[in-house]
Amino acid sequence: MSVNLTINSYFDEIKKKKILGTKCKDCGRIHLPPRVICDQCKSTNLELIELAGEGTLQAYSVVYVPTSKMIAAGFGRENPNCVGIVKLSEGPMMSAEIHGFDLSKPENIKIGTTVKSKFIERGEDVILAFEA
Ligand SMILES: [Zn+2]
Repeated sequence: MSVNLTINSYFDEIKKKKILGTKCKDCGRIHLPPRVICDQCKSTNLELIELAGEGTLQAYSVVYVPTSKMIAAGFGRENPNCVGIVKLSEGPMMSAEIHGFDLSKPENIKIGTTVKSKFIERGEDVILAFEA
C-alpha cells in the first residue's frame, strides 16, 4: 500500500496535535516527516503511523539572535529560546524548539535528557516543540 500524504497534510495533523510518520512494511524503517518511498530500501510499501512524541535531546543551541518570526513571538537577546535535535523513541530525529531548561545556565542542559512533545499555538500556527 502506498501512502498519500503531502507535507501540508502533515502540518494539518500537527495542528490536530498528532505526529504522523511512515513505517516501511519491508524493512521496518520509520520516517518523519512521512515519505512515499523508503529512503533505506526504496520500497513504496509504507503505512502511516502516529509517533508517541517522546525522545532524547541529541544537540541544542541557545538562540540570542532569533528569526523575525521568533522576535515577533517575544524572543531575543534578553529572552533567548532553545532549539535542538531530538531523537524520537521510534528512531527518527528532528529539529524543534526545546522548552523546560533554565537558559540563563545553558551549561546545565544535558545531552540525552528525556523530552516529550508539546504543541504550542502561536498566532495561526501550531508548533511541535519538546519539553524537558
Ligand atoms: Zn524500507
